[in-house]
Amino acid sequence: MINMKEQIIILINLQEIETETNMIKSALAGVADKIDALDLELNCFERIVEEKNIFIDDLRKKYKTLESDCQMKLTLLGKSQDKLTAVKTNKEYQTVLKEIDDIKVKNSDIEEEMLKILDAIETTEKEISGLTKESLLIRERVNGEKETIMREAEQNRNDIAVLDEKWNNISKKATSEILTKFNRVRDFIKGTTIVPTIDAICQGCNMNIPPQMYNDLLKFDSIKYCPHCQRMIYWGKT
Ligand SMILES: [Zn+2]
Repeated sequence: MINMKEQIIILINLQEIETETNMIKSALAGVADKIDALDLELNCFERIVEEKNIFIDDLRKKYKTLESDCQMKLTLLGKSQDKLTAVKTNKEYQTVLKEIDDIKVKNSDIEEEMLKILDAIETTEKEISGLTKESLLIRERVNGEKETIMREAEQNRNDIAVLDEKWNNISKKATSEILTKFNRVRDFIKGTTIVPTIDAICQGCNMNIPPQMYNDLLKFDSIKYCPHCQRMIYWGKT
């Protein structure tokens, strides 16, 4: 003879384990998103540093180009100055002088531009140094947070394994018929399978159950189902 009250209590215990397991599972489901968000935060910051580095490389290249341009013009200047000693007519003399002047004007423009670039390089270097320090701090924090999340996830997986074992052990005490019913309702409801009724209200769907059924619940002599949500119901507190 099956003790129905005992069977119902077994199902209630199984339900408690499942509820706890589901809570842990939903926490675990958020782990990947949390890790992704942390990675994104770090990547975004590192990209800023990267862009600054590209910017400063560009400035240095520009500076080098201007520098060699300036150098070339100085060579031209030297040649023109040499020419100056060899000119024969005043017209030639004026032409070479004009050449020399033009080169000097251009070189002064270039030098001005070079100074501006040097300033920009200096400013950017300072920015990069600050950003790099900050980036290291962010990396340290992100890695720490990730480690904590992973450790918690590991703990969660262990807890689930323990709960699964507990579920298996307890379910062995249920008759296969009752367990099949329980599984069937769970598959249908996709959530809490067995719920108490308190003051004739199903705690699964918050609807009133018929008075006669409610009274029958007190007997604990059969499995009853909420007529509204089809969950298994049992007598809760009044
Ligand atoms: Zn219900």
